[in-house]
Amino acid sequence: MSEVDVLVVGCRIAGSLTALRLAARGVVVRVLESRDFPSETLSTHFFRGDGLVRSLGEVDVLEEVLSTGAPPMACEYFSVDGGVFEQGPPQDPGDIGYTLSVRRSVLDSILARRVEATVDVRLRTKVVDLVFRNGSVVGVVDDHGEHHFAGVVVGADGRRSTLARLVRAASIERAPAARAPYYRYVTGWRSPDAVGPEFALDGEAFLYAFPSDAGLTCLAVSVPVNDHAQAGRDPRARLEHVFRQHPRTTDRLQHVEWVSRVFVGQPADSAWRAAHGPGWALVGDAATCQDPWAGLGMDTAARQAEAFAEAFATSPETWGAVYERLRHERTHEGYAQTTRLAPDLRQLIG
Ligand SMILES: Cc1cc2nc3c(=O)[nH]c(=O)nc-3n(C[C@H](O)[C@H](O)[C@H](O)COP(=O)(O)OP(=O)(O)OC[C@H]3O[C@@H](n4cnc5c(N)ncnc54)[C@H](O)[C@@H]3O)c2cc1C
Repeated sequence: MSEVDVLVVGCRIAGSLTALRLAARGVVVRVLESRDFPSETLSTHFFRGDGLVRSLGEVDVLEEVLSTGAPPMACEYFSVDGGVFEQGPPQDPGDIGYTLSVRRSVLDSILARRVEATVDVRLRTKVVDLVFRNGSVVGVVDDHGEHHFAGVVVGADGRRSTLARLVRAASIERAPAARAPYYRYVTGWRSPDAVGPEFALDGEAFLYAFPSDAGLTCLAVSVPVNDHAQAGRDPRARLEHVFRQHPRTTDRLQHVEWVSRVFVGQPADSAWRAAHGPGWALVGDAATCQDPWAGLGMDTAARQAEAFAEAFATSPETWGAVYERLRHERTHEGYAQTTRLAPDLRQLIG
């Protein structure tokens, strides 16, 4: 009855990596994605050597990602309350040794093209319902009315996951919305020394500069929800204000050209959801929504895709329990720390 071993819903970080890793292990996969590519999504895009960078290498797209001009960043900078940006090693570099920042419209398109070249993909196809048999998910219904049957359906469909909603995936841990991010792109940004991401704790605000592909730098700020209630009326002014009043960034603003509108992330609850049940599993934001302040969501999605593919391919009878254990081992500490610190980032220096 099943047409494929695994049906993956969503084709960005979690979905494309799940599909590519499963296909590499000989699993028959189909991917359904409601959008077409290139496609924007609201997200800055900083990720780490032992997280998403390693995965991009393992699915053989790292060279193409580097050809976008995104600089490999082998150091980073941190400043507290207007102080000098101290240089340090990159976060979680792994054997690769650097971090990257690539706009999502560019990165997600590279991944989607690789998936299209590897497995059966249906773009502009939205999953709207599930098919159950004896309490187990055995397929989905798309918005064209077509049924797709599979051994397992994987929801890689993001924070507002349709699959999580339809299977009523429980939130095992939950935390209320704590912060809101704003970001905008510039050209002409100068790093303090060698090119690297910059992080600055300034009161309760957290500033970021991510040198990215195509000569662009993403300037961002994360503010507490209370601040957002005020600043949310003019996020562009709030974003520019924090960079203008910071003594170590104000001079550098004179050399930049603002080249995009401001993008505003709305505050959202964090949740560690149950990630598997009869005939279904969740990966990435669908399984683990976390405040974006730590920039950990894409690495988490990559690690969970790897964990699911490993569990499914090596433990056909017990993949659910194995996936849950691997997901916890590889991503729970980051989720817990991100969520614990989000309401008060001064804990970073306490
Ligand atoms: C403002 C902001 C800044 C961020 N900054 C960073 C950062 O710097 N670093 C970092 O690591 N993370 C960051 N994140 C988090 C990061 O964006 C997410 O963790 C990441 O996108 C999760 O990837 P995903 O593949 O799980 O889900 P998504 O990227 O949300 O992809 C889900 C896909 O599923 C598709 N889909 C949804 N429903 C259906 C359906 N019913 N049928 C078919 N397809 C469907 C969607 O079209 C989409 O393409 C940020 C988030 C925000 C909001």
